Amino acid sequence: MKKYNGYLIDLDGTMYRGNEVIKEAPAFIKDLKARGIPYLFLTNNSSKTQDQVTDKLNKLGVEAHPEEVFTSSMATAKYLKQTSPNARCYVIGEVGLMEALHREGIHITDQEDCDAVVVGIDRNITYEKLAKACIAVRNGAAFFSTNSDNALPTERGLLPGNGAFTSVIAVSTGKQPTYIGKPEAIIVKEALTVLGTEVDDTILVGDNYNTDIRAGIQAGMDTLMVFTGVTPLEQLETLPIKPTYYINNLSEWTL
Ligand SMILES: [Mg+2]
Repeated sequence: MKKYNGYLIDLDGTMYRGNEVIKEAPAFIKDLKARGIPYLFLTNNSSKTQDQVTDKLNKLGVEAHPEEVFTSSMATAKYLKQTSPNARCYVIGEVGLMEALHREGIHITDQEDCDAVVVGIDRNITYEKLAKACIAVRNGAAFFSTNSDNALPTERGLLPGNGAFTSVIAVSTGKQPTYIGKPEAIIVKEALTVLGTEVDDTILVGDNYNTDIRAGIQAGMDTLMVFTGVTPLEQLETLPIKPTYYINNLSEWTL
């Protein structure tokens, strides 16, 4: 196994499952820290702030600090700053997205007369918010979405994710957004600029082939798949492009 100088680490299914820690996760993070290997927790969750994600990890016994967390909202804000720094953005989303956009100095407007529409999960979504977004996109506003996750695993079962809300605007306007989160390469590239490591000596660790592993593949990064989350070992045979490595759980990995 090659030695990697940087790690991008998925959360749900890799560090915890819902509100339960994955047994091997705390020791894996301790080991990275002890060896001084830089890493980021990489999550498609757009609703939470770095502090909120950190709190959850610490409560579950995984040592974490806010600067080690990189969300699809942060990637979206950084991408907007680079590609459309002066855009006035109409935003659908929760505190995690709003905070990330503010930090990058993105101009937020509540007017449908805007330059860009940015969509993250919003558990208080209304018809009026979708109406404004649709009018703006039809009038030529650029269209961004933090991630394309259609369903979110919860204790109640699978609930609608941001991809489902985004699809309302996409279907109604006939325009597709630029998605930022996994499986897109954009979030991986933005994370690398924060981590400060090169794509060739960084590895992406995750449980979900369709988001984590595909993001790594699309970004040209090596991948480590763990079978502690959504994609079962039996599915490996059917995958078109295999992950670089796969293990049952993180205790089988040597840093
Ligand atoms: Mg996962």
